[in-house]
Amino acid sequence: MALHVPGQLVDIASGPQVCHGRGMIARKVISKGELILEDPPLIIINTRLSLKRFGDGVAFWKGEESKATRHVEQALQEASNIDRDVYRGLHVMDPNAGKTMRDIDIAKHNAYNFTWNKNVYLAVCQYVSRINHSCIPNSMAAGVRTKEGIVGSIRLVATKDILQNEEIFLEYQTEDQFWLQSAAVRMSELQQNWHFQCACPACHASTCQFYDNAFAHIRWLRAIASSALPDTELQLIQRINDLKILISMLLAFGFGDGRLSAA
Ligand SMILES: [Zn+2]
Repeated sequence: MALHVPGQLVDIASGPQVCHGRGMIARKVISKGELILEDPPLIIINTRLSLKRFGDGVAFWKGEESKATRHVEQALQEASNIDRDVYRGLHVMDPNAGKTMRDIDIAKHNAYNFTWNKNVYLAVCQYVSRINHSCIPNSMAAGVRTKEGIVGSIRLVATKDILQNEEIFLEYQTEDQFWLQSAAVRMSELQQNWHFQCACPACHASTCQFYDNAFAHIRWLRAIASSALPDTELQLIQRINDLKILISMLLAFGFGDGRLSAA
């Protein structure tokens, strides 16, 4: 039985999905642009690192491991007993590891990263943190800040029309350009950082060639779009056509406004 999420459009799936965790399933048809859920963080960790220094997280999780442990444990101490229990029920790589290792592992694999006041923060949520990865996701997450600037909740919005019982996916690696890499590059990075083999259509052996070709075409169109304006009217018409193709391809892959403006 799937677990019902009160007042939301999604359920927690009944068992592990293709990639890793249990995942979230649409309870009904969800339209593109619709708010799927709003999820207050269980804990927020201030990494005290700029986005540049945080990078892919190595500086925090490996380079300053003892600091990471202290920050995660401090955030857990400040959480309520209920939030702490919910946190410890989230996906963990090695359930037999010691308590501190499990606490760190949960933060490492379930946190949503956001930047505030030039520092990277990590928010772990009850529901958003359960969502599995896809390189062609159907949702986007964004932090909603309180007056004090702290993230009061994470909002999850559909970037595609989603069918009833379809799984909700987020892209874990949010760096621009990541999704445009080849399947081999993406899979290697996901394996290294999140320890799972991506099985989304863009990575699956039977369909990845189609996506690799399409993404290579998008990379080419993006390069054209950012080059100097052409001289002749004919070339200008060609440029406009290229831009139209680029926009329609981005929309076809369900990339929302954030992605589109980055293109
Ligand atoms: Zn993938």
